[in-house]
Amino acid sequence: MSPLAKILRESIAQDGPMPLDTFMAVALGHSRHGYYMTRDPFGAAGDFVTAPEISQMFGELIGLWAAETWARLGAPPRILLVELGPGRGTLMSDALRAARVSNAFCAALEVHLVETSPVLTQAQKSALAQAAVPVHWHTSLESLPEGPAIFLANEFFDALPVRHYVKTPEGWRQRLVGLNAQGALAFGLASETEPRLDAQAPDGSVLELSPAAQLIASQIATRVAGGESAALVIDYGYVASGFGETLQALKQHRPVDPLSEPGQVDLTAHVDFSSLARAAHAAGADVLGPVTQGEFLTRLGIAQRAEALKRKATPEQAQALDVARARLVSDRFSAGGSQASVAGMGTLFKALAIVPRGTPVLPGFAGGDGS
Ligand code: SAH
Repeated sequence: MSPLAKILRESIAQDGPMPLDTFMAVALGHSRHGYYMTRDPFGAAGDFVTAPEISQMFGELIGLWAAETWARLGAPPRILLVELGPGRGTLMSDALRAARVSNAFCAALEVHLVETSPVLTQAQKSALAQAAVPVHWHTSLESLPEGPAIFLANEFFDALPVRHYVKTPEGWRQRLVGLNAQGALAFGLASETEPRLDAQAPDGSVLELSPAAQLIASQIATRVAGGESAALVIDYGYVASGFGETLQALKQHRPVDPLSEPGQVDLTAHVDFSSLARAAHAAGADVLGPVTQGEFLTRLGIAQRAEALKRKATPEQAQALDVARARLVSDRFSAGGSQASVAGMGTLFKALAIVPRGTPVLPGFAGGDGS
């Protein structure tokens, strides 16, 4: 049994079953045994791979996006570039390298990273040791300084806890994590129904909500609505809210039972982009998109970037660049030769910008010349 399974069983035995989002918050964020607190989960040897770890092109294009966004926000003389959940710091490091095309942007830049994991904070410190701009760390948005800001969040929102409500003949009941007859962690339902939930749906339907994601979207949007700021959210998820559950647990790239080995497996849920957009609108901001990651990166010029890198590459490196680009922008891609095609990130992943009201458009979000 994982150390956290023992702690959770004791807590439930004492205080009763807990909501799913409480379980997820403990499994991922427990200060000693939480999944993100104890490890670097990325890469072939880890549990999952993210876009910045697939290719430097991803972070570079986002760096160029940030420089152009800063210019369209009126080029404020000081801009915070804030990244939420920066992982190994790869995206930021690639973004800062690409941003050097604009001296004025670099002169205005102050980087702020919001990260709860001590292990990943360390990795970010090494990745950004040579950064030519000041870098600061925070464990939550609350300690960020005031002022114009560009927020970046890649595969951050999917790591935030979700709640489930299940439709029963009596009404909606919250899904809880409790103990079965053998004392092991098991799903159950609250005995009380939720009087405030009155959505019509067949019995057995599941409503998945993330109050944590809505809160953070609303905090960011409140700053954005104040002007001279914007946010870019990229994640896997869906465009229209509906019924259904997407909680998934991964260990070494394979799905596992979400209640098995809490703290040792990654837990995520697909991001509900329409709920982020609603939170943004409610805070007085506007949104652009969501568009698919494939459209977004293509409009930002990933094909041209790949060609430029290929000019200086060996044939093996050139092939790797083509595979990486296909993986980032396509639905399916093949690693080449006789390899079968596998799922890519192009359509499942989406990009959404949160912008001040009346912002016409930003790079990546419109067709044609991408402007
Ligand atoms: N953006 C990175 C990492 C994605 S994994 C990439 O694309 O590679 C999720 C990241 O969010 C990790 O860095 C994790 O430690 C961080 N994280 C998870 N929950 C968090 C929270 N509540 N506050 C801040 N960071 C969090």
